[in-house]
Amino acid sequence: MGLDVGWAVRWLTLSAQAMAEHRVELIELDRPIGDSDHGENMDRGFQAVLGKLAEAPPETPGAALKLTAMTLMSKVGGAAGPLYGTAFLRAATALGDTSDVDAATLAAALQAARDGLVARGKAEPGDKTMVDAWTPAIEAAAAAAAGDGDVRKVLLAAAEAAEAGAVSTDPMLARKGRASYLGERSIGHRDPGAVSSALILRAAAEAAE
Ligand code: ADP
Ligand code: MG
Repeated sequence: MGLDVGWAVRWLTLSAQAMAEHRVELIELDRPIGDSDHGENMDRGFQAVLGKLAEAPPETPGAALKLTAMTLMSKVGGAAGPLYGTAFLRAATALGDTSDVDAATLAAALQAARDGLVARGKAEPGDKTMVDAWTPAIEAAAAAAAGDGDVRKVLLAAAEAAEAGAVSTDPMLARKGRASYLGERSIGHRDPGAVSSALILRAAAEAAE
């Protein structure tokens, strides 16, 4: 059994909850190596997504992700809005109009999201950005999808790898985004975008339980 539009809506709803719950934490992470707005940006963006979902309930998972992409692009300022917007849009395109997402399609959609981030932001793994959460996540998702085809295992593997990926940004020197202006002083801080990415991927796994 795959993932349907109900899963997608639960995912986005749980993501919005996570952004609200972790708003202050994301603001605090963005303080030393950014401008303290990441939590506010993400919370505002996902609250707007909730509004759009209620206004025009999507009929497929792809439509839900496309609506999310458009909303995040218009409501989230800074670097994260266009980056997440591109990621969700690429994932939506990868899902197409299917109403039942299987493990292979899911892993491909996550890969498309990560590739969209990289195309948009030009960050490489190790540059201390959200790419450092997404890259291990898609690798773990692909490995899990090659197993017994259980979509929940794909999402759990992605969430766990993203969380470890976020932690792995602590010792990195930032080479992209605002944090890169700090050079060596960016070392020893966790990247806020990697943390919000891990929260979003954890929400995806919880939505499938
Ligand atoms: P801003 O930096 O404009 O204030 P946010 O604070 O909302 O935007 O988002 C910052 C996050 O965006 C960073 O923690 C990082 O994960 C991500 N980011 C910034 N620049 C890039 C980039 N070029 N590629 C990938 N991610 C990036
Ligand atoms: Mg910021």
